[in-house]
Amino acid sequence: MTIIFLVLGLIFGSFINSFVWRLHLKYSSSKKVSKKHSFFKGRSMCPKCKHILSPVDLFPIFSWLLLRGKCRYCHKAISLQYPIVELITGVLFSLSYFYWPYSFNLWDYILLMLWLVILVILVGLAIYDFKYKILPNNLVYSAIFLSLVFATIYYIKYDQTSAYLLARLYGVLFSAGIFYLIFQVSNGKWIGGGDVKLCIALGIILGGPLEVVLMLFLASLAGSLMSGFLLITKKLKANMTIAFGPLLIFSTFLCFFFGSQILNWYTGLIG
Ligand SMILES: [Zn+2]
Repeated sequence: MTIIFLVLGLIFGSFINSFVWRLHLKYSSSKKVSKKHSFFKGRSMCPKCKHILSPVDLFPIFSWLLLRGKCRYCHKAISLQYPIVELITGVLFSLSYFYWPYSFNLWDYILLMLWLVILVILVGLAIYDFKYKILPNNLVYSAIFLSLVFATIYYIKYDQTSAYLLARLYGVLFSAGIFYLIFQVSNGKWIGGGDVKLCIALGIILGGPLEVVLMLFLASLAGSLMSGFLLITKKLKANMTIAFGPLLIFSTFLCFFFGSQILNWYTGLIG
């Protein structure tokens, strides 16, 4: 079963690659996007020579390996982004199934499917932010909406307590509140407005200020490690910014599945 989720993740990873590219095309071109590039219609094509790809070119990872990272038609290098995103999505999908914190009744499966859709949007956001340093509004709003649906189903089916709702409310106020403050204080220089909106979705997913603190801590830790590494290797330029979105999203994934373990381990450590 884990293998099925891995394969499913590879396929969705390939979908993420293509929708990030199409979304960027839509935003970056002032002209009306031609039908060939439209969002869901239109076949996949090589980003460089625009040759329509045949089905054998579309197998996640394997096509890339078989073609040795080069386009079959123009022989230009295909970015490593493609297989890496496919692999990451595959791993996240199989981890999601393997460590799924709930049981496997009908409603749990519905929640799991919903979670995977949210995950696809979050990975898409992470890649978009990493590449273009912006979090597109329509993706962020979809993530917020679907997290709300997820929390609502969970509330109705499993936990009709005000504690559940309050935890989510505090989570959102806390995460989005902190980011809104940083955004205001730095005049939008340290983080973007997209990060603030993203935190609304992440707050709903995590629920509870403690989980949010852990998520922010992990994200900042990863951020510091990354800038430290870049400083040592002298790759950090003065005007360079590190996109915070991918770090927030990755930490949220960790906290969603392993948050309580990490917190237990930590309290065991200090207690
Ligand atoms: Zn090509």
